[in-house]
Amino acid sequence: MLKIILGTQNEHKIYEMNLISKPYGIEFEMPDTKNKAFNPIENGETFEENSYIKAHAAYECGGGELYLADDSGLCVDYLDGAPGIKSARFADTAEHRIEKLLDVMKEAKNPHERTAHFECHLVLLDNKGNVLNKTKGVCKGEIAFEKKGSNGFGYDPVFIVEKLNKTMAELTEDEKNLHSHRGKALSDMLVWLKHNYL
Ligand code: IMP
Repeated sequence: MLKIILGTQNEHKIYEMNLISKPYGIEFEMPDTKNKAFNPIENGETFEENSYIKAHAAYECGGGELYLADDSGLCVDYLDGAPGIKSARFADTAEHRIEKLLDVMKEAKNPHERTAHFECHLVLLDNKGNVLNKTKGVCKGEIAFEKKGSNGFGYDPVFIVEKLNKTMAELTEDEKNLHSHRGKALSDMLVWLKHNYL
């Protein structure tokens, strides 16, 4: 099993990504913070820049052969792409972020005005901190009028996945991985690793 250090402290993200990667013989682990804290300052202006910042912070913690990070977020057309790279900081808790989103969307009464997409950018570094590969995944949908479902995390209960007519939080783990921005970006990265690294 190839172990890759993933630049995150979100256990759910590691869990979701390991479900996809293990059949490829790849397992993600959190950065080892014994000698150096994992404390990336996400001050990039794009998902890709922030993903690189997190991958590099994981690399600075050391201990791995490869380092990967993802940066992702929800882009709502009605809000000119917001919350975008600020998705995690839109409000103080996941619950409050959803409440705020539904509130700022309350005048968008037609589903066509509520189109949105999740975006995920992955950056892979080698053990010298050089960029080896980058991938991107997008999942299109629209913002629901109310929460539905209890799986997943973040904005999942209010994001209706295009063509499925279900919120992301109503999908099983396997379904989410098949359709999600992160699942798509990760599948492309795993295929690249299989052909170029394993
Ligand atoms: P980050 O990539 O860990 O910085 O995450 C950014 C934020 O985007 C998360 O805290 C969530 O609020 C949101 N987000 C990213 N991916 C997902 C997802 O798969 N479902 C729901 N929310 C997500």
